[in-house]
Amino acid sequence: MPNGASFFQDVLLSLEKANVHLKLPPAIYERLRTPRRSLTVSVPIQMDDGSVRFFTGYRVQYDFARGPAKGGVRYHPAVSLDEITALAALMTWKCAVVDIPFGGAKGGVACDPTRMSRSEKQRLTRRYTYEIGVIIGPESDIPAPDVYTDEQTMAWMMDTYSMMKGYSVPSIVTGKPVCIGGSLGRTRATSEGLVITTLEALKHLGLKLPDLRVTVLGFGKVGYHAAKILYDMGAKIIGLGDSRGAIYDARGLNVDAATDHKKKSGELKGFKNAESMTIDELLTIESDVLVPAALEGQINRNNVNGIKTKIIAEGANNPVTNEADEVLKDKGIFMLPGVLANAGGVVVSYFEWVQDLQRYFWNETEINDRLRTIMSRSFKEVLAIASEKKIDMRTAAMVLGVKRVSEAVMVRGLYP
Ligand code: GLU
Repeated sequence: MPNGASFFQDVLLSLEKANVHLKLPPAIYERLRTPRRSLTVSVPIQMDDGSVRFFTGYRVQYDFARGPAKGGVRYHPAVSLDEITALAALMTWKCAVVDIPFGGAKGGVACDPTRMSRSEKQRLTRRYTYEIGVIIGPESDIPAPDVYTDEQTMAWMMDTYSMMKGYSVPSIVTGKPVCIGGSLGRTRATSEGLVITTLEALKHLGLKLPDLRVTVLGFGKVGYHAAKILYDMGAKIIGLGDSRGAIYDARGLNVDAATDHKKKSGELKGFKNAESMTIDELLTIESDVLVPAALEGQINRNNVNGIKTKIIAEGANNPVTNEADEVLKDKGIFMLPGVLANAGGVVVSYFEWVQDLQRYFWNETEINDRLRTIMSRSFKEVLAIASEKKIDMRTAAMVLGVKRVSEAVMVRGLYP
């Protein structure tokens, strides 16, 4: 997080804002401020040069009052217990906002996957899975992809867990390849969900899709597919950014050509049909929809003042700090918070888990229809709370999610 703030403290601040409206009993509120279970593991692996390196991994199960804990695994140098705890808390609220029967979890390993070979990443994944194997399981905690992890990572996790058990356990992870029990539509699901909620927001604000000016920051799976889907629908993608820089064209970028350029050169910058600039410069460009889809804290007190857009759709988890959020609210920007806007990924993960348990698979139309139903219903539920309580969409989403979790905690009561 920029400005040295703790990510988890920032997430707790959002919980505090929701509790102003929920007024939970103190013991329940305290329970929701505290992660249920946190595991830190040492992950030793042999590197390709023969040396042995030790990485630190985490798995935090924030809450499972509503069902098994659920959440991704990320590989990134900035991974820490604070970050993973914050993301596990967000997964808890997110699953509750879209009303799927999961609690929240998150995992990660502090490493730089961009500097590791495929076989090093495979050994890292297998040893990490073994180490967290004591707490994960299809009934207790189901990992999935997140930043710098993908279908292949999930295949290795599924294989390692299955080897430990002695039989195949497809339902141990979601986001795996279709040939081993993955779900159709999972790869694009987060972006599909983001587009569904963005279209709902456009309708609500009386805006139209053609000629809509869209800027997308982050060109990983979520950012790329969001840009591509909106581009194919006729929106004008005027700006794109990745970790190395940004490109801009007021007339609209050709997303396919920009993707080819990135595949060849490793970055968006230098794309010949556009102006290259820094991410902070791109943030000051006027747009209708801004999609931050990289890491948390991307929009913060240092750059928030320059933002000129109508809607922010959070593709990443908490890319906007609470401090920046207050400024955006004053500017009248309509916020689609990550716990709603990027929930499509975990919704289709839920479908994948259900299909694995039933050993019966649905076609892509069924998946996309069910995803649309859940995302549109959730948008409307959050909007209704925002209108009724005259609060912003982020606080409204938190009110909805936290209320559902707190109800489950209260009705289950305290053990023993
Ligand atoms: N990593 C994704 C998220 O942050 C998906 C998690 C999942 O599917 O379990 O929502």
